[in-house]
Amino acid sequence: MKILVLNSGSSSLKYEVFDLENLNVLARGIVEKIGEEGSFLRYRVNLAQRVIEETKNLVIPDHDIALKNVLNVLLDGKHGVIRDKSEVVAIGHRVVHGGETFHSTAIIDGKVIDTIRENINLAPLHNPPNLKGIEVARRIFTEALQVAVFDTAFHHSIPRKAFIYAIPLEMYQKHKIRRYGFHGTSHAYVAEKTSEYMGKPLEDLSLITVHLGNGASMAAVKNGKCVDTSMGMTPLEGLVMGTRSGDIDPALPFYMAGQLGMSYDAIENLLNRECGLRGLCGTNDMRAVVKMSKGGNEKAKLALDIYCYRIKKYIGAYTAILGGVDAIVFTAGIGENSPDVRSLSCSDLGYLGIEIDEEKNISSSGEIREISTAASRVKILVVPTNEELKIAIETKKAYARISGNR
Ligand code: AMP
Repeated sequence: MKILVLNSGSSSLKYEVFDLENLNVLARGIVEKIGEEGSFLRYRVNLAQRVIEETKNLVIPDHDIALKNVLNVLLDGKHGVIRDKSEVVAIGHRVVHGGETFHSTAIIDGKVIDTIRENINLAPLHNPPNLKGIEVARRIFTEALQVAVFDTAFHHSIPRKAFIYAIPLEMYQKHKIRRYGFHGTSHAYVAEKTSEYMGKPLEDLSLITVHLGNGASMAAVKNGKCVDTSMGMTPLEGLVMGTRSGDIDPALPFYMAGQLGMSYDAIENLLNRECGLRGLCGTNDMRAVVKMSKGGNEKAKLALDIYCYRIKKYIGAYTAILGGVDAIVFTAGIGENSPDVRSLSCSDLGYLGIEIDEEKNISSSGEIREISTAASRVKILVVPTNEELKIAIETKKAYARISGNR
């Protein structure tokens, strides 16, 4: 029996197949450029003796055809991982926005779909393609249990004082304008892994989790519950990101409109796609930023400084609200792979008991590792994230809960 995890974007469909028993990954892949010129399916299959990686150029006009092609590859007589689609007993869907309704993983039925649809205004770019993924999966895998795992769910425990903005309260009560937070699946996963690594129950730990991918966010986790996070109503708030500004003076858009004559769309596009590292130094790839900075490029150096300064500022803020920290946990593309970012973000924090060991920091591995000095009161850890595995774990739990009743 297998679990399929789907992450459906506007023009892409990412998938991963897990063995239900041991959650080993059997296959993964991505369909890209759905509905565009040059669509393709790239996949990797882990067979007993070898790994097969292939790319197929295909005409893929929509998500329906995309998932049918994924199924064909999974069923492929030569190196498929299933013999019949009924082997896929459960499908876990990544859904970006669960609004205020979904506090945990949901087994999908018509009502859940309606509620995800109602939350589209909160995530107009993400929820529609996520829904599309659910709809096509329900059509193609009619027997499988369909499960939604929400990016926002882990943050439901944030208290009101941290999630309500200081704008008229009706804005929250009537229009649901509040902090929701994102990357919850990743923050939850690395927090659990940290607890295992430290050999202490999550309930006894205070953690700051730092997810630095192309999008970036931090979370303050106390006794296993998220108490604050840096992303807000949308994923634009908080840290400096690849192409997003993160925190700015909320009056800047009025200045841009009033004084610079920019349209609403142009401002939205600028803040989401032309800011962050890209706006500061021309690229959103942290590898290039670090390289350029080391090569003496002043803009890249400034971008790196601003990026890490913001992380440090949130470490200070979250240390204060947590009343002390047991570990700071770096994860995702940049968090796992950039010693420069980790070093700058944690520099000169000795007075908070945070001391990075530069030698350990530069060593690399795909495993959990400790990069703080022996004397550091706060552990600094690098914990590889795995959102697909976390979705598979949640899906397996949901399947186990209901399989007795099926
Ligand atoms: P993610 O969204 O988690 O896939 O992370 C994407 C980001 O990770 C991109 O900005 C990459 O430049 C960054 N990244 C990946 N490898 C490295 C590395 N070795 N050093 C610095 N940044 C990296």
